[in-house]
Amino acid sequence: MSRARADTSGIPADLCPVATVLSPMLAGDWRAMRPVVARDRCVKCAICWLYCPVQCMVEKAAWFDVDLAACKGCGICAQECPHRAIRMVEETAA
Ligand code: SF4
Ligand code: SF4
Repeated sequence: MSRARADTSGIPADLCPVATVLSPMLAGDWRAMRPVVARDRCVKCAICWLYCPVQCMVEKAAWFDVDLAACKGCGICAQECPHRAIRMVEETAA
C-alpha cells in the first residue's frame, strides 16, 4: 500500500518541510539578558569576539560593542572578558 505524500512544491529549497515560513525573529527579540560594554575598561583584546558563539561582537574605533539584534544574551563574553568590561543586565520591555 502506498502513502500519499504532501505537496512540497511550494516550499523553498532552503527550508525544512516543517518550517514552511521563514521566521523573521532574531535572538534580540527573545533574549532575557543583554551585555553592556564599559568603553573605558575595554582594551580591544578581542577575547569577547573570539568566544561569542554567534559572532555578534562588533569592532569600533576604541572598543568592542555588541550587535544587539543578533546577541542571544548567553553571557559568555562577560565571563571571558579579562578586564571585566562587560556586564550582563536584565532585558526590559522597550
Ligand atoms: S574581552 Fe573585554 S577588554 Fe577585550 S575586547 Fe572584549 S570587552 Fe574589550
Ligand atoms: S551575550 Fe553571548 S551572544 Fe551576546 S555578545 Fe555575549 S557572547 Fe555573544
